[in-house]
Amino acid sequence: MTNTKLRVLCPHCSSVVFNNATPQIVERPTIRSILRSKHTTIEQEGTQQQTGELDTNDTDETLSIPVATEQYYSIRDPFDFDNVSVSKALPSNIKLLACADCDKGPLGYFDISAKEYLMLRTIPTPPSSKQH
Ligand SMILES: [Zn+2]
Repeated sequence: MTNTKLRVLCPHCSSVVFNNATPQIVERPTIRSILRSKHTTIEQEGTQQQTGELDTNDTDETLSIPVATEQYYSIRDPFDFDNVSVSKALPSNIKLLACADCDKGPLGYFDISAKEYLMLRTIPTPPSSKQH
């Protein structure tokens, strides 16, 4: 059994953002494409009464627009992170992940409806030591 660890450093201050067992890799829409799609607004109607009917209230995702996707690490437990800050909820129903030390990002996002933390697989790591 190989228990590979994944270590991700903040590209800006090289704090350890993630240092844990390698999460599953998933493909999800890019942050940019999510922020661009304005049709996903948070509709909160105060009380949502249950009407007996089992209706999984899935939002109809119109796939007419091609959505750019990329690979992310899927993380379910926020405690898996070493050092991450989560922004306030955005209208697109996501929260952006940033470095907890320098607050720079985004390093990924948190999908509120899926309760899934998605960390960019392609976080650029800083060139070691030298700071211009
Ligand atoms: Zn940082």
